[in-house]
Amino acid sequence: MKDKNVEQKKGPAGKKTAELEPLEPEDARRTETAVTTEAPAEVAPPEEKERRFRDSNLPPHFIERRKHPRIQKEPPPPPAPPRFEDYGPIIGKPELDEIRFLARHLQGKTVKMVNSTAVGGGVAEILNRLIPLMNELEVPTRWEVITGGNDFYEVTKGFHNALHGGDYNLTQQITDLFMSYNEQNRQRMQFNEDLVVIHDPQPVGLVRSKADTQARWIWRCHIDLSNPHSGVWDFLKPMVEQYDSAIFSAPAFTRQLAVPQYLFYPSIDPLSEKNKSLEESFVNKVCDDFGIDRSRPILCQISRFDRLKDPVGVIESYKLVKKYVDCQLVLAGGGATDDPEGAVVLQEVMDAAGDDPDVIILNLPPWSALEINALQRASTIIIQKSLKEGFGLTVTEGLWKEKPVVAGAVGGIPSQIVHKLTGVLVHSVEGCAYQIRYLLTHPEFATQLGKNGREHAKENFLITVNLKRWLLLFQILLGMAKPSKTI
Ligand code: UDP
Repeated sequence: MKDKNVEQKKGPAGKKTAELEPLEPEDARRTETAVTTEAPAEVAPPEEKERRFRDSNLPPHFIERRKHPRIQKEPPPPPAPPRFEDYGPIIGKPELDEIRFLARHLQGKTVKMVNSTAVGGGVAEILNRLIPLMNELEVPTRWEVITGGNDFYEVTKGFHNALHGGDYNLTQQITDLFMSYNEQNRQRMQFNEDLVVIHDPQPVGLVRSKADTQARWIWRCHIDLSNPHSGVWDFLKPMVEQYDSAIFSAPAFTRQLAVPQYLFYPSIDPLSEKNKSLEESFVNKVCDDFGIDRSRPILCQISRFDRLKDPVGVIESYKLVKKYVDCQLVLAGGGATDDPEGAVVLQEVMDAAGDDPDVIILNLPPWSALEINALQRASTIIIQKSLKEGFGLTVTEGLWKEKPVVAGAVGGIPSQIVHKLTGVLVHSVEGCAYQIRYLLTHPEFATQLGKNGREHAKENFLITVNLKRWLLLFQILLGMAKPSKTI
């Protein structure tokens, strides 16, 4: 996928990318799925664990931890939210000042953001970080959540799957129900702000209030619309086209629309538990808890146990590499307990791992952000060999941690990985194995990819970049700034 908003030739370091440039729709497919939140399961029955380690030369303490990984049973207390100032050491003072400058021009302007859930899911996670930062910068931003019965959420879930290309039987009754819940919420809400941002399809019908307001209205679409169910999209599209603009997460995810479209990449928070820098002693402790040997190369894929993440393909690639280089593979995911398909995939993964004691499979609870952070930091190479993907935040997390990332060329991944510059794109088990082997035997090249990857993530995929884009877009929509290819 060619992404014209990402500098691909000269490299990411030191090069400003074009921002807020309207997008052209492109064809691509992906599957977006939610992060699971189930409790951890026993990874393998005891006799299977014994079989794996019977002929192993591993030191006993690694064997013991691989059989019984020390997994955190309780969620840790939530950390204090970061302040805007805290991002200074990461992005630098000039960047902080630039964001403050943009915000200062918007002082007195008010914003409302509306979505369909306050907790759970990526959108709520982003808003939980973004909105306090906007308020701290004195751009008063209110967050409201629409309400609805189970029948509404069943419909919106059906829409979500249909917009990803699934089958759906759209009836008059369904569209009436969708509109009546939108109407109830619309009657309950007031829109006195200067800017109204509606996230995703669930509250899209609130735009009926636009005619009664002076506000500029923005539709922020977090999902991939490249291959939608035509009936559902034909129903939603006339509402989307009443907005002043629409925002998508990748060039490949857009539709042809009569309103300007903008590219806002998803973002990670460099100060979150998942991404903040860690003491080396903590990284060592996590490896010790899971029986991971830091003296040998570590390949790692963090993903839900889902076939589209191709964990079995990762094991096949690892096995090809292992013939030449002594390494370990860590496959860490979550939610395979309650999700029947997750449990089946986990079993497939264990079967594929067979007797190999150097394949470490971890089924982690949802409160494992620090552990995932440590696993990513301990990794020699981060793999994300997806067959279909949303944006692929695990790739972003790996790039941010300055790791060489080997990933499938699907969904939003090519926006993040410029092949052989910020990481490596692969299309097959053999290709994945070849690239891993190459990186393991060319550590200087691997280090350079990691450095470039971090710069690329810093420039494009941090929450501060996202904040800056919002402030710029608000200025453009309020007529305070002109869109430009070189902003
Ligand atoms: N993740 C997690 N625990 C797991 C597996 C994944 O916290 O067991 C996180 C991972 O670090 C990333 C997100 O869930 O932040 C997955 O996002 P991504 O876009 O890679 O894939 P999705 O699961 O949304 O398809």
